[in-house]
Amino acid sequence: MPVRRLHKPGGEPFGDDFPPQVPLFDGALRLSVNAFAIDDGEDITLIDTGSSNAWHPTMGFLPQALGEARIDVDRIRTIAFTHTHLDHIHGLVLADGRDGFPRLSRLFVPRAELDMFRSGARLSRFHDRAEPLDPGQQLSANIEAVAAPGHEVGHTGFRVTSGGETLLVWGDIVHVPSLQFERPEVAWEFDADQDQARETRLRILALAANNAWCVAGAHLDSPGVGRISRGETGFRFEPL
Ligand SMILES: [Zn+2]
Repeated sequence: MPVRRLHKPGGEPFGDDFPPQVPLFDGALRLSVNAFAIDDGEDITLIDTGSSNAWHPTMGFLPQALGEARIDVDRIRTIAFTHTHLDHIHGLVLADGRDGFPRLSRLFVPRAELDMFRSGARLSRFHDRAEPLDPGQQLSANIEAVAAPGHEVGHTGFRVTSGGETLLVWGDIVHVPSLQFERPEVAWEFDADQDQARETRLRILALAANNAWCVAGAHLDSPGVGRISRGETGFRFEPL
């Protein structure tokens, strides 16, 4: 990712003042891309699916990652998207054109992004299978959709509760973990509404810190899951 993708409040990109704590690789930002599988003992719900072969050649390794985690794809019956950007939805179809999830029975797409989801040709066979998803909707007894708009118009998180603990699968609240926990006011070029995304990021970081929730982020570096606390400035992320 070119470094110009980071914007200060007001939409201005960084220049010579580029924050030194952000690691660059050959002068570019590195973006991790994660999907999260929630196993309730019977079925597995998958939140997002990565990009398959629709974006960068270093992405699209979800089938291998599921194998490493010993997750049988045939147990994945429900998929829900945090939003419909290409690095989240295209894993529905494998690089060779086959379905990534042969036993899929429910496919949830945030209602405000159904048209966006149905606009691309690569996933055309899924267009009619998509069910609208609204904030507050329960995907199962333990998984509830939570509104988190800004990065995209229907951007949605998923609150997972189990054994008295809460995990928020928050999609694209943070793209650059080395910077945006400490400085949550910094925005990302691909935020559809940077002001709203900033407001949502601040609200959700505070919610997670105040309630000791675990969070799981699509673009947090491995392992992609951790806890939030308040720092001297902004917030801090502790990976699990
Ligand atoms: Zn993303």
